Amino acid sequence: MDYAELLKRAQQQTQSGSKGERYAVPQFEIEHEGNKTLVKNCAKVAAQLRRSPDHVSKFIIKESGTSGEMDGNTLVLHTKVTQHTLNEKLLKYCKQFVYCSTCEKPDTSIEESGGVIVIQCEACGEEHTAPVE
Ligand SMILES: [Zn+2]
Repeated sequence: MDYAELLKRAQQQTQSGSKGERYAVPQFEIEHEGNKTLVKNCAKVAAQLRRSPDHVSKFIIKESGTSGEMDGNTLVLHTKVTQHTLNEKLLKYCKQFVYCSTCEKPDTSIEESGGVIVIQCEACGEEHTAPVE
């Protein structure tokens, strides 16, 4: 078995072995254009997570330590970031702002109130807070 095959097998194991398989995080589709990174489906991913593209994009921009802006459905980052890195940041976003930390379901609503973000779980009714970015 060569390295590529090993890698493929490891990835498959990671995917099928993960606890949150049922609630798979959507994946970013990206393109590089010069020194820019285009996240082609940023608005679509935000819609799937039931979050505003603005909130998702601000988080990704900040986490990437760069500047950027939304252009239609596309998030334009002013630096080169790999797809893998961006999807890790998306996972971090989901853990912070989407998944319920009690039952781990993604059926949550989000509301800004008094300087914090309140995440209300529609599945178990728990409320969690996160700092406003
Ligand atoms: Zn819950």
